[in-house]
Amino acid sequence: MGPVDGLTFVGSPASKSKPTDVNVPRLIAAMKSGDRSWRLDAKCRGMKPSFFWPEFGVPASLAAALAVCSECPVRIECLAAGLNELDHSGGIWGGTTPEQRRVIRRKVAKYRRRVAA
Ligand code: SF4
Repeated sequence: MGPVDGLTFVGSPASKSKPTDVNVPRLIAAMKSGDRSWRLDAKCRGMKPSFFWPEFGVPASLAAALAVCSECPVRIECLAAGLNELDHSGGIWGGTTPEQRRVIRRKVAKYRRRVAA
């Protein structure tokens, strides 16, 4: 699977892009939108939320969650929601781990500084 909306995922064979390679302007637009209707199209709809809070350090648990996300059409909206969470330190959002979201948050902050200058 290749990039979708600027998001790609671990193990993506068709691309060397990283999960942190995001379309930052589109991500920021999703963060601002407040629209939650994307949840209706989520690949994980109906699944237990706990599935996306894998036990980190257990590769099979993490890989299973990321595999679902890799086929999800609303990853960037989900990532935006994860970044908007007050406590966004845990879980999988938009197919990214908390560590990857820290990288993405820095990219968002850098982009905002650049456009504000
Ligand atoms: S990207 Fe988000 S909405 Fe889509 S399957 Fe993963 S956790 Fe669910």
